[in-house]
Amino acid sequence: MMLRWCRSVINGLKFPLIAGIERTQSSIGGFSTSAWACKHNDFYQDLDQKFIQFHKKLMESLPSSDWTPLPPTGHLPPERADIVIVGGGVMGWSIAYWLKQKENRRGALRVVVVERDPTYTRASTVLSAGSIRQQFSRPENIQMSLFSALFLRNINEYLGVVNEDPIDIQFNPSGYLFLASDQGASALEENYSVQREQGAQVLLMSPTQLKEKFPWINTDGVALASYGLENEGWFDPWMLLNAFKRKALSMGVYQCHGEVTVKMADMYSHRAGGKVSHAATKQPRQHTTEKNHQNKQANSKQTQPKT
Ligand SMILES: Cc1cc2nc3c(=O)[nH]c(=O)nc-3n(C[C@H](O)[C@H](O)[C@H](O)COP(=O)(O)OP(=O)(O)OC[C@H]3O[C@@H](n4cnc5c(N)ncnc54)[C@H](O)[C@@H]3O)c2cc1C
Repeated sequence: MMLRWCRSVINGLKFPLIAGIERTQSSIGGFSTSAWACKHNDFYQDLDQKFIQFHKKLMESLPSSDWTPLPPTGHLPPERADIVIVGGGVMGWSIAYWLKQKENRRGALRVVVVERDPTYTRASTVLSAGSIRQQFSRPENIQMSLFSALFLRNINEYLGVVNEDPIDIQFNPSGYLFLASDQGASALEENYSVQREQGAQVLLMSPTQLKEKFPWINTDGVALASYGLENEGWFDPWMLLNAFKRKALSMGVYQCHGEVTVKMADMYSHRAGGKVSHAATKQPRQHTTEKNHQNKQANSKQTQPKT
């Protein structure tokens, strides 16, 4: 585009100037016997010659007369970044979006998302069922999910981009159904109380009520059921991923095609001057195993893991 623009400016410069000279010549032609007029003509002809040479040189210095698009540079990372996000799945692009959303002045944060596979062949985001539920046992998860439902309902207010098509994530409302035996009924009831406290629309059903609502269900061994009345269902996760990506890019996030191979230890080491981080990353495996062991012990005390 820039090249085309250059060319038209150059051409535009040349022709009016020559036309101007011709007009000058003809008007001077009325006094053609004058030596001064003759000299004056020579001067403009020299100037014209020089300009033609200059124009020729300039045209030769441009790559080609046809428009050739510049090679894509998406794989090249910017020279400097404040935040590098490894992985452009739904989480990566969502984080990028929210970072830009929260920056206190436009362009304050330079955020880069690095993705090794732009086709997302093996990314969880596109493999997922794309469902959302409110039925969790922890208030934090319920709150997050309630906000997610609000976000999806108003997705165009959050992720809409001017002059682009509106987003349709193809939401299909459909409640989750949790079934509990005698053993799990009290946990289900407990979860239900927390969900209602947090504002989730969930219904508890006896086996008879369950049978009435879903006649095809075998209720043998079912003591209690909980069913989501609102904000549960599924949508197209590919759409959501692209909506986050499109919006984040429109807000100035950079994308880069490549695989991040630098070790976390090196990254931390670089940041912390190679002191604290070395101590923390010396035996990462042992640290992880200990943590897992503690988690396993904690989980084994519960009949059902809290979600
Ligand atoms: C079968 C299945 C069903 C699911 N169903 C649901 C569901 O119904 N509801 C729900 O809420 N969740 C569901 N999930 C979970 C949900 O999909 C994930 O929690 C979510 O997609 C995770 O997003 P992510 O961006 O962290 O990971 P991903 O989508 O996997 O993205 C990670 C990206 O990082 C890239 N990457 C990794 N390492 C590097 C590197 N070193 N350099 C550059 N790029 C890198 C990968 O190529 C990948 O594209 C499901 C998951 C699966 C697998």
